[in-house]
Amino acid sequence: MQDFTDQASKNGVVLKNSGKCQFCGADYPDGIFGCMNHYNTGTELLDFSNPEYHISRFLSVDAHALQHPEIHGRWSNHFHLTRLYLLLEKKIPWDYQKSPLLSAYLNDYKVGRPDEYLTPPHPMQRGNVTMKDLSNTKTASECAEQIRQWATGVYRAWHKSHSIVIPIAEGFLQKNPIR
Ligand SMILES: [Zn+2]
Repeated sequence: MQDFTDQASKNGVVLKNSGKCQFCGADYPDGIFGCMNHYNTGTELLDFSNPEYHISRFLSVDAHALQHPEIHGRWSNHFHLTRLYLLLEKKIPWDYQKSPLLSAYLNDYKVGRPDEYLTPPHPMQRGNVTMKDLSNTKTASECAEQIRQWATGVYRAWHKSHSIVIPIAEGFLQKNPIR
């Protein structure tokens, strides 16, 4: 998981290891390192072998990635924001088979678009809920609801990029009709 530091330096970003996370504002004592170290602990209440919670898994991965775009490759923003649109707006019943299909669709989409870039919202303005808020939940359903609010806030924060990802999502659905 430490390879995120390499990606940050590729993006020219200096990571701080104290105080709130410089990207999402989560109140961990060791900044972004707290956000990464607690990646799995926030969702411990959820049994991800239960298909009912697969959606929570996808939403939490997308929300986390889009709150920390500086530690990912730029095309991952396209993937996660497109998937959030599909999950939250289109209510597509996502599963583990669909993610590689979306990746493949984006691989084709990238060709001829070397300069397309989704501009992230300013750091600390990427939704009010963070991974850390999940640790305050007491039950699986509370945790799942908090994840939904987290993802919804992040999706809205990225509103300037909706006009790019919505056509991608619609093209994906045309190519891969959901039955
Ligand atoms: Zn963070």
